[in-house]
Amino acid sequence: MDYPELALLIGGEWRDTAGRDTLPVIDPATGGEIARLPVASIADLDDALESAAKAFPLWRDTPAFDRYNILRRAAELLRLRADAIGRATTIEQGKPLAESTAEAHAAADIFDWFAEEGRRTYGRIIPTRVAGVRDMVLRQPIGPVAAFTPWNFPITIPARKIAAAIAAGCTVILKPAEETPATGLALAHALVDAGLPAGVLNVVFGVPATISEYLIRSPEIRKVTFTGSTAVGRQIAHLAAEGIKKATLELGGHAPVLVFDDADVEKVARLAVRSKFRNAGQICIAPTRFFVQEASHDRFVAAFADAIGTLRVGNGLDTGTTVGPLAHERRGPAVGALIDDAVSRGARAVVGGSPVDGPGYFWQPTLLTELDPASRIMNEEPFGPVALAVPFTDTDDALRRANELSYGLASYAFTESVHTAYEVSERMEAGMLAINHFRLTGPETPFGGVKESGYGSEGGSEGIDGFLHTRFVSQA
Ligand code: NAD
Repeated sequence: MDYPELALLIGGEWRDTAGRDTLPVIDPATGGEIARLPVASIADLDDALESAAKAFPLWRDTPAFDRYNILRRAAELLRLRADAIGRATTIEQGKPLAESTAEAHAAADIFDWFAEEGRRTYGRIIPTRVAGVRDMVLRQPIGPVAAFTPWNFPITIPARKIAAAIAAGCTVILKPAEETPATGLALAHALVDAGLPAGVLNVVFGVPATISEYLIRSPEIRKVTFTGSTAVGRQIAHLAAEGIKKATLELGGHAPVLVFDDADVEKVARLAVRSKFRNAGQICIAPTRFFVQEASHDRFVAAFADAIGTLRVGNGLDTGTTVGPLAHERRGPAVGALIDDAVSRGARAVVGGSPVDGPGYFWQPTLLTELDPASRIMNEEPFGPVALAVPFTDTDDALRRANELSYGLASYAFTESVHTAYEVSERMEAGMLAINHFRLTGPETPFGGVKESGYGSEGGSEGIDGFLHTRFVSQA
């Protein structure tokens, strides 16, 4: 099996399992153990904090052009290694190989983007009120960063955080998800091999709550960035607030999709199925609540169900698989409980609704209709292969339903009407909106939510801002 050795990276040194507690890494397609992951001790965490703090002034003072060169070299290494990285991702996370490999290439594009952005952290000069004085605004790296990333996009999510931080001149301690350690480490290997100085990036694993609390409470850490659930994001925000530390939080979503009568409903359903079941639905921006205008609802449901029939659930390493297993053992019961609750309140499973028999954490792609608005699944993020179809009457009704949750991450709308598109883009309460398609992520576009989906932007030219602070200098 092509699965790499796992280690911690601290102060430029790889530290293995010898003398450390370990955690199992599980292949979600089989339920079997693949490897043991070293857990960072408190001494390891102290060393990581010390090395990130020591490396910070050196990295801050490294010319932006040199930082650019290292990130660009790392991007090239990621591209050269994309097949091997993709294989490790599929083994530990489950998603189909084509998705995993594409994700490694996407991480390389993210490195390229932030390499460039790091050369453009311009300040400005302000005309003064006093002769002989120059007023300047400098953009300075904020300091050592603690970054916590999940298992659903195990390379692009850490890439967005690390590349932006490093390009800005910050140092980083990254805790990738323990479920998908090899993919997170692939980024670290590419950066080390590209010449990143010791201590600029450190990687640790362990019990998430213990590590995040220890690192965020440490005075060395000046910035916190987290992607994961709203519940955990709230705890991270509390910890960051205690130390008055800047935080970027990319949390849960429950994306609404408004399908108006004037859209090509069958085509939207086909596109929606591809988008919904990518990564087995474990995507914070996955389209989930499909609000379909009354006259089109039944046609949409029929076309959606037909398109589900073209999917193939299986081991992500097998050719032809389009939907892999859920990423870990906890997900199936969580998804199942939401479906059972909805069905007990009158929902109908048009397709799916159950786990797949056999080893591994496989779940049938599912479409539910006739939903009670009070059912849990209409209010809590399912984070799995479940789509919900609900009819609406007019634009006001659609927007009321879309906006009624506390989430506000991604949203989608399909209409041929310029007026309706305008109304939706003005009134949708979401950090991101795609009109007439489902693509929302790219290195060059801002990514982030509003309301309880978090704050701060991760991509685009906004993405580097979270790692910089503003200093005003007035010189006579
Ligand atoms: P979970 O909340 O246990 O874990 C989610 C992620 O957060 C994991 O990577 C975990 O390692 C990390 N985490 C958990 N507690 C932490 C802590 N105290 N400090 C730092 N990191 C911590 O849930 P799960 O069952 O693994 O995932 C399900 C839920 O997580 C979903 O319902 C979804 O809301 C959320 N999630 C969101 C994203 C996203 O992209 N926004 C990604 C993955 C998971």
